[in-house]
Amino acid sequence: MKRIAICPGTFDPITNGHIDIVMRSLGIFDEVVVAVAPNPKKTPLFRVEERMELIRESFKGLDRVTIESFDGLLVDYVREKGGVAIVRGLRAVSDFEYELQMALMNRRLDSGIETVFMMPSEEYSFLTSTMIKEIASFGGSVRGLVPDAVERALKEVFGK
Ligand code: ADP
Repeated sequence: MKRIAICPGTFDPITNGHIDIVMRSLGIFDEVVVAVAPNPKKTPLFRVEERMELIRESFKGLDRVTIESFDGLLVDYVREKGGVAIVRGLRAVSDFEYELQMALMNRRLDSGIETVFMMPSEEYSFLTSTMIKEIASFGGSVRGLVPDAVERALKEVFGK
């Protein structure tokens, strides 16, 4: 049986930190589904379709990675996909409290789905999509922190 992991997130936009976590997940799981949450509460910069397209570009040629969007309860979606685990990235201690809360709530909702935490490479452990957008909005360079397609998309949005 294939062991499928779901990597959920807003991915507004995908960064090299997200990619690091997905690549590590491929070392443990047979398939990884990158699941984009619309997350209107966060008022995303990119539409869901745009975010998915940028993720697709980033994992071109990797047939064990699929990209989807989902609505509703994450555990319902994971069950529907036949997933065995939810993978989340942990950057710093500051991520921990929120992530623990979510993991325990998801376990309460479905005890058959485990949450697995992965630590990114140190060079990405400070990286957030919010910071990327902020730097790009002021015309700063985000090279080496995001895939080329994201760098181009940010330049288009901010016109720099
Ligand atoms: P969400 O709104 O669900 O937190 P994000 O796109 O911000 O969505 O993050 C999705 C997942 O990727 C989360 O588990 C987050 O901790 C992780 N993540 C984001 N940036 C990094 C990074 N630089 N290194 C490792 N994990 C990261």
